[in-house]
Amino acid sequence: MMKFTYEKKEGNMMILTYDKVKNDMWEIIKNKTDFIYKPSSDCDVCIDRNEWDYDSEGWDYEPPLCREHYDQDACRYFYADEYGTSDYNTPACVVGNWFTYAEFTPQDLNVTTWEELEGQGVRTILERAHFDIDEDTFSFLNLLQTHQDTGISWGNAYEMAVAKVEGNDE
Ligand SMILES: [Zn+2]
Repeated sequence: MMKFTYEKKEGNMMILTYDKVKNDMWEIIKNKTDFIYKPSSDCDVCIDRNEWDYDSEGWDYEPPLCREHYDQDACRYFYADEYGTSDYNTPACVVGNWFTYAEFTPQDLNVTTWEELEGQGVRTILERAHFDIDEDTFSFLNLLQTHQDTGISWGNAYEMAVAKVEGNDE
């Protein structure tokens, strides 16, 4: 049986309301509110690889590519597999976890491979996806992702994003 986590309107466009996305996101993070996605600037694997990319002289081995960060720079939606490409079965960032929770397909997101999402902001991805989505939902997801990417725990990132969107942050 097919499971539709989001209501669809005519033309099969999925309707992403703020309340639904907010509730789903809470389900995803509620047992992981302390989780911090370590920024690439604090990642030893990325630091080594970036130094090697910049100047490999003095290295007697090639440091590995990081599976947690894209291009030694961005948090990944999905951790990389042994070939360095996005593995849908291991969602990484909070938005990647939402993609799998909602059971979006590449078609839903208007991409051919999951790897195409890496390095792009959630707003760019969702604009391309032809969802029916309002500005509050865009802002919520964008704020949550931005806070996460700067090393803020999922619980705090969620609270800060909700407060901003709902206007309780003063
Ligand atoms: Zn890294």
